[in-house]
Amino acid sequence: MGKVLVIGAGGVSTVAIKKMAMNADVFTDIMIATRTKSKADAIAQDIRNVKVQTAQVNADKVDELVALFRTFKPDLVVNLALPYQDLSIMDACLAYGVSYLDTANYEPLDEAKYQYSWQWAYKDRFEQAGLTAILGSGFDPGVTGVYTAYAAKHYFDEIKYLDIVDCNAGDHHKAFATNFNPEINIREITQRGKYYEDGQWKETDPLIVHKTLDYPDIGLKESYLMYHEELESLVKHYPTICRARFWMTFGQEYLTHLRVIQNIGMSRIDPVLYNGVEIVPIQFLKAVLPNPGDLGENYTGETSIGCRIRGLKDGKELKYYVYNNCSHEAAYKETGAQAVSYTTGVPAMIGAKLFLKGVWKKPGVWNVEEFDPDPFMKELNEQGLPWHEIFNGDLEL
Ligand code: NDP
Repeated sequence: MGKVLVIGAGGVSTVAIKKMAMNADVFTDIMIATRTKSKADAIAQDIRNVKVQTAQVNADKVDELVALFRTFKPDLVVNLALPYQDLSIMDACLAYGVSYLDTANYEPLDEAKYQYSWQWAYKDRFEQAGLTAILGSGFDPGVTGVYTAYAAKHYFDEIKYLDIVDCNAGDHHKAFATNFNPEINIREITQRGKYYEDGQWKETDPLIVHKTLDYPDIGLKESYLMYHEELESLVKHYPTICRARFWMTFGQEYLTHLRVIQNIGMSRIDPVLYNGVEIVPIQFLKAVLPNPGDLGENYTGETSIGCRIRGLKDGKELKYYVYNNCSHEAAYKETGAQAVSYTTGVPAMIGAKLFLKGVWKKPGVWNVEEFDPDPFMKELNEQGLPWHEIFNGDLEL
C-alpha cells in the first residue's frame, strides 16, 4: 500500500521499522536513510517480510534529501533523526512533493530552545502543495496529545487542568545513561522549567519544583516539573485549559550525575577549542556515554506515561487518568530495544499507518491532537501500547 522513507537509524527508528514490518499490508516498501549507513543496514538485516533498502544521507542537506526522494519516490517521509533536521527535511518534502511525519519539534543546534512556531510557519506551504505534515507522533509528544483529544472528544465539555506524568521506573544497571539521544535529552532536562497557568507561561529554575506521585503498578516516585513541547500545542488547541504542566521522574543518582555534568561544563552546547580542534562538550559527552539503543538487554522495570485531567462534564467536575505502562523487558524481547524507544517508535509507526490508509491525511501542518483520536487509540491497543482509564480517582495534582 505504501512506500515509506525513514530518516535516522537509532533506537526509535529500530522499533518503528520492526513494527512497520509487522504491518506489512500497509508498509510494502521501506527505505532507511541515515548518516551512518551501517546502522541502517543493521536494522534492515532483521527484516525479512518487507522490501527494505538502505542509503546514506546527510539530512541537513536539502539537495541530498531531494535527490534521494527522487530515486525512491516515497509516499511518506518519517523523520526519526534529530530535531535539528526537522526544517531541512520539511523543506525537502516541499521541494519534492511528499508528506512528512516526525516525533520531536525543531530545535536549533546552537540554542537549547524548542518551539512549534518554526514548523507551524510551514502550514500554508504544505496546504497549498496538498501535503500533510504530522508533528510529534511519538509518546510525549504524541500519545499524550491523542489521550487529551480522546478525553476532550468523549468525556469532557471543558478540560480545565492537564498534568502529563512521565515515569520511568526501569533500571538499566548503568551508573549513568540517557534513554534516548543523550545530547537532546540533557539539553531538554537542564533547561528552565515552564508551565501554563491562567493564560500565561510561568518559569521556574530547572527541576526545582517536585512532588511524589503514585504511578499505577509502580508506586511512589519523585516527579519533577519541566517544560515539554506538547504543552505549547495543547493549550493552543484546548483554550479552556487553565493550567497545563508536565512531570517526569528522575532518581537521585541520575540527578547527581546531571549536576556534576553541568558543573564541570560538559553540558555546554557552544564549541570549545581542544588541542587546536573545536569540539562541543555535550557532543563529546554523547560519544562516551552508553548508546541508548544498547541499553535494552539488561533493562528491567517499566515506564508509565499518562494524562491526569480535571474538567467539567454537564456542569459537574470530572477527574480522568489515562495511561500506558510499558515493560522494558517485553519491549526488548519483541524489538531488541528498551521501552523508551518502544513507546516512541510504535506511535510513529501508527501515525504513518493512519496517513497511508488515508485516515490521518489533510493538507497542512498538524499536531497529533488535531486528528481524530479514535483510530489511533484503537491501534495503540493492537500494536503493543494498551491504555487504561481511571475515572474520579485521586489525581494528586
Ligand atoms: P538516536 O540518536 O539513537 O538516533 C538518531 C539517528 O539520526 C541516528 O541514526 C543518527 O545518525 C541520525 N542522524 C543524526 N543526524 C543526522 C543527519 N544530519 N543526517 C542523517 N541522519 C542523522 O536518537 P533516538 O532514536 O533516541 O531518537 C530519535 C528521535 O526521536 C529524536 O528526534 C528524539 O528527540 C525523538 N524522541 C521523541 C520522543 C517522543 O516521545 N516524542 C521520545 C524519545 C525520542 P548516526 O547514527 O550517524 O548518529
